[in-house]
Parts: sequence; C-alpha cells; structure tokens
Amino acid sequence: MSRPLRLPRHLEQAIWDHARRQLPSECVGVLGADGEGALVAVYPLANVAARPERCYVADPAELLRALKAMRRADLTLGAIYHSHPRGPATPSATDLSLAEYPVPYLIADVEGHVLRAYLLPQNQEVPIEVG
Ligand SMILES: [Zn+2]
Repeated sequence: MSRPLRLPRHLEQAIWDHARRQLPSECVGVLGADGEGALVAVYPLANVAARPERCYVADPAELLRALKAMRRADLTLGAIYHSHPRGPATPSATDLSLAEYPVPYLIADVEGHVLRAYLLPQNQEVPIEVG
C-alpha cells in the first residue's frame, strides 16, 4: 500500500456533510494540499451528471474556479472526492475509466459510512489517517 493520506477531521466532516446534503445524488469535490502535501481545504462542486444518483461529473466552471482559488492560496490539487449514496466505498467501472488526475480519489459510502481512497485507474488503495 502507498503512503497514508492524512485527512484532518474537519475536512472529513465537510465531505460527509456534503455527501448527505446531496442525497440521493452523488456529491463531488476537490481538496487542496499545501506545500508539504497536507490536505488543508475542501471545495465542494456541483454534480452536473445527467443521472447524478448513478455517477458524477464535476461542474467544469466550478472546478476551474476551485483550481484558481487553490493557486491563489498557494495550494495544489491534493485529492478528489465523491460519494456512493448506497456504497460500496470502492471505485465503479465508470470511476476507473474516467479517472485522469494523479491524486488519491476518496470514495464515501454514505449508507455504510465508510471512506476509502484509491489511486486510479490503477485501483490501488491508499490508507487514510483521519485526525
Ligand atoms: Zn463512483
């Protein structure tokens, strides 16, 4: 397994809050990392997928705004998250085929309250350390 991903508790909470707010749809968002690679900010994005309860597509304009906000704050893209309202906390075939960023993808199983992270498309789990 790869180096653990350290996730501050308040950012984990923000992901769960966003995931519950969007039910029954999937949520999506990005996390900004500082110069040491620590995750320090969360940017919830709108899911503009045609069937948002089945998959996610981040609103491109919001994603661009989030990336610009990160750059202004001297942050870089550290991770991407989305939810599976009824689980599981593992990547779907669509998640694998659409992954294009070399950062961990966090997947929140809302029903089971399980959060896991993976490098995609290689589907390699990255352990999460919350706190
Ligand atoms: Zn998914």
